[in-house]
Amino acid sequence: MKYFIIFGPPGAGKGTQSTLLIEKYGLRHISTGELLREEIAKGSDVGKIAKELINKGQFVDDKIVLDIIKDQICNRDSTVRGFIFDGFPRTISQAEAFDKLLLECNKRSVNAVMSLEVEDKLIVDRIRKRAEIEGRKDDSSIETILNRIKTYHAKTEPLIAYYKEKGKYHHIKGDLPVDDIFKNICSIIEGLKNE
Ligand code: AMP
Repeated sequence: MKYFIIFGPPGAGKGTQSTLLIEKYGLRHISTGELLREEIAKGSDVGKIAKELINKGQFVDDKIVLDIIKDQICNRDSTVRGFIFDGFPRTISQAEAFDKLLLECNKRSVNAVMSLEVEDKLIVDRIRKRAEIEGRKDDSSIETILNRIKTYHAKTEPLIAYYKEKGKYHHIKGDLPVDDIFKNICSIIEGLKNE
């Protein structure tokens, strides 16, 4: 069982690359953002709490996110070959809790973090384009977009040092064409195959 994280700022292309990776390697995609949007669509209690925060561009509480992750990775059938986590972990405390959970539930650890590096200016342009296609509420105002980028730098970027220290971090240029980025990610995965 492999555990990959696709990492990067909002709008870096994590979702696009995850879709390609799932097809090629038969991984299960776990996007906490998507799972939270499903809760919002269902109108569940979790969805109601998440909606307020997401629409303001703020993070949802660790407890909610970790319960979702636990539900997805613990007690899974063994036919799943691996997971790709997209948008999780987003803070050091989530990463620490994730390490503990993987060890307790599956006696495993994160195999690799693939980080899509993109400049802030490009992120804004990409999110504005995505807003036209997907109509996400949190993509619709420039204030919310800038708030998410600011939160990324303050709370999520420290994860780079966290995973570098563990020897799991791989950086990928995120401003190349989609296919080139995908090839670069695949060569990292292929390089890890015998690990
Ligand atoms: P995403 O689809 O990954 O861009 O996530 C959309 C929004 O969902 C984020 O801006 C956060 O408000 C919330 N969210 C998604 N994943 C997490 C997470 N791991 N921790 C906290 N909030 C999250």
